[in-house]
This record gives sequence, structure tokens and C-alpha cells, in this order.
Amino acid sequence: MIKADPYAFAAIAAEQIVKGLGLTALPINPHTIAQAREIVVQGKPVEDKGCSGMLVRLGNDFAIAFATHLQNKGFENFSVAHELGHYFLPGHVEAVIQGEQGMHVSRAGFNSGDRYEAEADRFAAGLLMPRHLYFPAIEKAGSGLAAIEKLADLCRTSLHATAIRYTQCTRDPIAIIVSRGGIIDHCFMSEALKQLDGIDWLKKREGVPRNTATFAFNQVSTNIEHGVRLEEVSNIQHWFGGKRRIEISEDVVGLGRYGKTLTVLYDIDLPEPEDEEDEDNLIESWTPRFKR
Ligand SMILES: [Zn+2]
Repeated sequence: MIKADPYAFAAIAAEQIVKGLGLTALPINPHTIAQAREIVVQGKPVEDKGCSGMLVRLGNDFAIAFATHLQNKGFENFSVAHELGHYFLPGHVEAVIQGEQGMHVSRAGFNSGDRYEAEADRFAAGLLMPRHLYFPAIEKAGSGLAAIEKLADLCRTSLHATAIRYTQCTRDPIAIIVSRGGIIDHCFMSEALKQLDGIDWLKKREGVPRNTATFAFNQVSTNIEHGVRLEEVSNIQHWFGGKRRIEISEDVVGLGRYGKTLTVLYDIDLPEPEDEEDEDNLIESWTPRFKR
């Protein structure tokens, strides 16, 4: 059974705003949307590393501050879009800022257990990568990490946020894994991959499989800092278990100051379940039965 996505509404709300403003081409600039609402947006000093951004309220006036320490334009756009999520999503302003005056400090980036942070993240993804503009872009982008890089370039989004949105939107069976050292931070699988039988889910906080390119990559810290990228092959068993040894593609890239590694698993071409059953029957029908 596929679980309903409890945060999907937040991305849809953002897409409605993009449509309502008559924006018909990527990239969507969150600064323009803030301007349209007379929200002042300002970068924080690079030394200030505590959070991804802030929403400040003074009565009916709002301002947004965003972190610049990662020196990653994509992350900055996402941080501004996240704060816009708190501004636009029903109930958020009241929930995240007590009273008529004050501020909310955010940690954007898909790792929060907090409902409001998770909703604002999904809003940001929907705002910067609205499906009606993103689907046609995906069709033209190719596959693997190269596709994610192209889309990140087009949408001015970080590789990390792009990879997650791509996994939600693609029709291909793919998985993305974000890891640090030997530990998997998180993993997202596309719908098409979830439909496949005979593969296990990768879980948060599990180890990166030792016999993979990602594991070897993470042993060298400069690979991550310098944003080194690799295109390797792997085996579906290494990552997902199961009984089939099928070659897949494994692209790996260091995410720089973010301190993590992004892995993209794709070219996952599993045989149809019926074909396999037929094969089993065929083998059985050709196996002599001596033991009777
Ligand atoms: Zn927030």
C-alpha cells in the first residue's frame, strides 16, 4: 500500500501561487514573490551559521533573512522560499511566531521532524519546482546525476533539493541517497522504484553498503569539500538486497560545504514479475524429477 503524503498540500499551495502570479517559465525567483507582497528580504552575514533563515513579524509587516554561509545560491533560494511558506501557508504565522511581533528561526532542508518546518520545506520545493513547469523540464533533462544538475541549473536550486524533487516527479525507477561518512542520512525512492517487488527499503541511519562507490568516495573528505563527481556502476543487491544481481548506475557527488554526499541510483531495469515466474516454471519443467 502506498502511504498518502501528508505534506503534498503544501507543494500544491505553492504551485497555485506560481500560477496565480502568471509565472510561466523557470526559474521562479522567490525574491520577486516576496517583493510582490512587500516583504523585505536580506542576506545574513556569512559568519552567522545558526539557521537557514528567519521570518520576522512586526504587526502586518514581514521581513525575511536568509543564511549565506554555505555560499550556495540554490540553498539561499530554498531558504527564502521556506520562509515564504510560513508566510503563505494557513496557520503558520500564528504557529511559528507568538503574538503580533517576533521572529521564527528556521532550519530548512528536509530533515526536520517538526510539522511546520516540513510543510515549509515542501512549499519551497513546490514554489521553485512547480510540477506544471518541472515535468516538461524533466522530460528533456536526461537521466542520473546529469539530469539533476541540469534541473538545478535551470531552477537555481541546490543539488540536494533538486534531487529530492526529481525523485518525487520522475517516472523512472530511481533512488537518491544522502550520506555522511559511513552513515545514510536519508534516502528517497521514486514511485516507480517503490512499485518494484523484491527490493528492501533503505532506512535512515543505516550504514552505506561497504562494497559501493559511495562508501569508497566517503573515505576521502576532500571529495565532499571539492564537489568531486563520479559515474560508476553498482549492483542492485548491494543497495537493496533481494535475490537478483542486476547492474545499475551509481553517480556520486560531494555537496561541498553542506558536508554530505549525494548518490543517485538509476538505470534500474528489473525484469517483469511474470517473466520471472515463466522462467521458474520453465526451469521446473526441464528439471528431471529423480526423487520420487
Ligand atoms: Zn521554518
